Amino acid sequence: MAADQTHYGPNTTLGVQQLFIGGRYRPGTAEISFENLNPATNHVICEVEMASAEDVEAAVEAAQEAFLIWSATPARERAKVLLRAAAILRERNRELARLETLDTGKPIAETAEVDVITGAEMLEYYAGLAPAIHGEHHDFGPDAFAMVRREPLGVCAGIGAWNYPIQIALWKSAPALACGNTMIFKPAELTPVSALKLAEIYLEAGLPPGAFNVVQGDGRVGQLLSRHPGIAKISLTGEVGTGRKVMADAAQTLKGVTLELGGKSPLIVFDDADFDGAVDAAMSANFYSAGEVCSNGTRVFVQRRIYRRFLESLEDKVARIPLGDPFDPATRIGALISAGHLEKVMGHIEAARRSNALHVVGGHRPEDPALAAGNFVHPAVFAECTDDMSFVRDEIFGPVMAVLPFEEEHEVVARANHTPFGLAGAVFTTDFARAHRVANALQAGTVWINDYNVTPPEVPFGGHKQSGVGRENGLETIGHFTQTKTIYANLGRVAPYF
Ligand code: NAP
Repeated sequence: MAADQTHYGPNTTLGVQQLFIGGRYRPGTAEISFENLNPATNHVICEVEMASAEDVEAAVEAAQEAFLIWSATPARERAKVLLRAAAILRERNRELARLETLDTGKPIAETAEVDVITGAEMLEYYAGLAPAIHGEHHDFGPDAFAMVRREPLGVCAGIGAWNYPIQIALWKSAPALACGNTMIFKPAELTPVSALKLAEIYLEAGLPPGAFNVVQGDGRVGQLLSRHPGIAKISLTGEVGTGRKVMADAAQTLKGVTLELGGKSPLIVFDDADFDGAVDAAMSANFYSAGEVCSNGTRVFVQRRIYRRFLESLEDKVARIPLGDPFDPATRIGALISAGHLEKVMGHIEAARRSNALHVVGGHRPEDPALAAGNFVHPAVFAECTDDMSFVRDEIFGPVMAVLPFEEEHEVVARANHTPFGLAGAVFTTDFARAHRVANALQAGTVWINDYNVTPPEVPFGGHKQSGVGRENGLETIGHFTQTKTIYANLGRVAPYF
């Protein structure tokens, strides 16, 4: 089926995908191309041309040229461009959501509501902030003062993960561009297409050619960016191991890094919590996007008195989650991103089955022959888990929930914090004081009280411990995409010393 821009569907194929540099498509000259597959069918969506070192060089040059224009554009004009881009994203939400569903295997019920819209919200938020970015003035008496200017960094690079492709591209580019920087974005090899659409939209909205570029390829292209002396900053979303490599590579030129990495977050349910709300939250905190969410609450600690009832409710509700064709609006669990990732997730499920944990529900492949070629697995719940089990310790990034009983508040806080990760966490209770005591004690970048995975643009998001460095969203990110310059002015004569 030929690509119909507005009606991407399960059988859509696209032409060869290239790079987007200096405001136009360009072939990748690495002479390597890779196939991009539909996770629901494993059919080829498109071939993608990989960037060579020369292409990365061209992207840096284009972004440097555009920086001269964009950084000199008044902030209110920059804001207008970003708002126009947000409006185009909203107008084309349906089309872009279908493209994202095709490329990621995520249900259309999610992508049409969240992926593009939360990206547009980020643009709107930072467009609003752009004119408010300002410096300081310090008075040193009648003969001297100093100004502290807040300046953009220059060319920044974004390296994306595959779970929220267009949202990640927007979460990185919105603050970077609002601050007057330009960007080179490398999408994950598994989800290369929507970043190109975003590049087209930015251009249509009036961003100067070269202010947002897309280079395609795997980790080798990411490494070219991390090591490049012409790039001032790297913002990565990915695994902890990749974060270490990027930080080490960026250290060669002492560039700043923002690292949004993995997690194994605790979700704590006390026995006084709103019971049904806590069960529903545990399900969405584990099975939304088929569990491919960094901040998921995959260690569900349930207080002993409600533990049995909690498991019964989970078993009943999880068994009824509709899994299937991601383009069906009724579907709530789509396909995992790749056959390789499915194999990894099935490995964790096998390990859980072999352990002393109690298998509650799910973890099997669907029997429907129509789904056989795709990367589907029914969401799994294991109970009677202990903190040392490998599938309880390690990030799975798939639909696998571990339920752990606990007795006391101090015990559960210590167990929740016993992990090298620190991305997120949640506490469910109706006891106001306990909610805040636990939220304060959890070692995590975000803690939700009686909710889960809510990430408004206004508040910072990022990891404690090995879940990350720096933050995305919120005012704090302005600091990550700008640098200060102190200008000291003497209005009098220089005092003689010699
Ligand atoms: P990944 O394997 O670490 O890849 C992330 C990105 O880094 C991809 O674009 C990848 O390229 C690139 N890359 C790989 N090696 C690199 C290197 N040496 N130098 C520079 N770039 C390199 O992660 P993923 O599998 O795509 O995503 C899943 C992970 O992301 C999970 O751990 C999840 O928790 C985390 N995540 C975190 C957040 C957050 O906000 N904290 C959000 C979403 C996901 P290729 O894939 O093309 O090889």
